[in-house]
Amino acid sequence: MAYLNENYLKLQAGYLFPEIARRVHEFCEANPQAAKRVIRCGIGDVTEPLPRAAIDAMKRAVDELGKRETFRGYGPEQGYEFLRSTIAQHDYRDRNIDIADDEIFISDGSKCDCGYILDILGDQNKVAIPDPVYPVYVDTNVMAGHTSRVKSDGSYENILYLPCTADNGFVPERPREHVDLIYLCFPNNPTGAVASREQLSSWVEYAREHEALLLFDAAYEAYISQPGVPHSIFEIPGARECAVELRSFSKSGGFTGVRCGFTVMPKTLLAKTESGKKMPLHPLWHRRWSTKANSVSYPVQRGAEALYTPAGGEQVRALIDHYMGNARILRAAAAEAGMTAFGGINAPYIWVKTPDGLTSWQMFDRMLRDLNVVITPGSGFGAQGEGYFRISAFNSRDNAEEVARRLERLC
Ligand SMILES: *Cc1c(COP(=O)(O)O)cnc(C)c1O
Repeated sequence: MAYLNENYLKLQAGYLFPEIARRVHEFCEANPQAAKRVIRCGIGDVTEPLPRAAIDAMKRAVDELGKRETFRGYGPEQGYEFLRSTIAQHDYRDRNIDIADDEIFISDGSKCDCGYILDILGDQNKVAIPDPVYPVYVDTNVMAGHTSRVKSDGSYENILYLPCTADNGFVPERPREHVDLIYLCFPNNPTGAVASREQLSSWVEYAREHEALLLFDAAYEAYISQPGVPHSIFEIPGARECAVELRSFSKSGGFTGVRCGFTVMPKTLLAKTESGKKMPLHPLWHRRWSTKANSVSYPVQRGAEALYTPAGGEQVRALIDHYMGNARILRAAAAEAGMTAFGGINAPYIWVKTPDGLTSWQMFDRMLRDLNVVITPGSGFGAQGEGYFRISAFNSRDNAEEVARRLERLC
């Protein structure tokens, strides 16, 4: 009999979203009337249709594939030049950030890139992960065999958790000890926090002192509304020597189902061998894509490219304005109901302190039972998320307004 990968058996059972689904299902079975009123502000998935520019570009691309003269087979493993140069120009060089076209790698999304990137990194790395956090960073490390035992509080031995609390504004402090690999996500899911230029500079400084690597997840970059907040880790001098950036069209262009994102892998970024020899990661990343994958489909890459056209850009802006309008309504309603609310200004998530000392799951049950609103319990994102819950602004305006009205009843 073949052996299985036992690392998968170390993954925590009762993963957050299945448990939410189970409780919602149970409630709806028991309360068929209330079930019709349930509004989901839980899972962080977009709700509004794709931008017109992307739809038209994808249709045109499919038609091209249908004619012998314009048919295309395998594309470049790293992604088409037309998309990589558009990204490098608009997202980086237009903002005075020095990124070359061939430092962009097109992928089927940032979630996927989180898993893929571990292919080219050593198993010896000491990993630091913020808490609370997007669960993918921890779980991909578990699957890759980078963790040993699970402790009784659900955390893993040999991961260094970086607490993100109201006291530090949900931006983790640099560890006192040495780590090799650090995950950062700004604007943040689940807290909605952003890091200032000074805070990111301090992390770049740490990474350079320790020859560590920052994995910077900027999936919500397009939601930044306040001037002065960095959109990319590469705005920070020295980041080209210590950071990889992950970006996605999921939350900007509504591509969660279409699937397209990219990594920025600077050619100046080095890592070392067991014997201490320093080598660039870029060729390994290129090799990983060439051998194991072939980027994403031509129509999808044309769809992503269209988000950068003037019309596409306006449509993306309108989508984000829509979600951020919801965020304003929901954040104000939570505050009105007497709760302490964070986020919702540069990210589509509102991070709320539970009232009356309730646990996150108690608050989840109360919101479901009393308001028929599904939220995400903060404790599902890590131990430091206990006592918080996340409201997602990914919804229709009608639903956001209805949730706001219902929140008044919590007072
Ligand atoms: C939604 C999200 C992503 C994007 O994932 P895709 O695989 O590109 O859809 C990445 N990081 C975080 C923190 C997210 O919330």
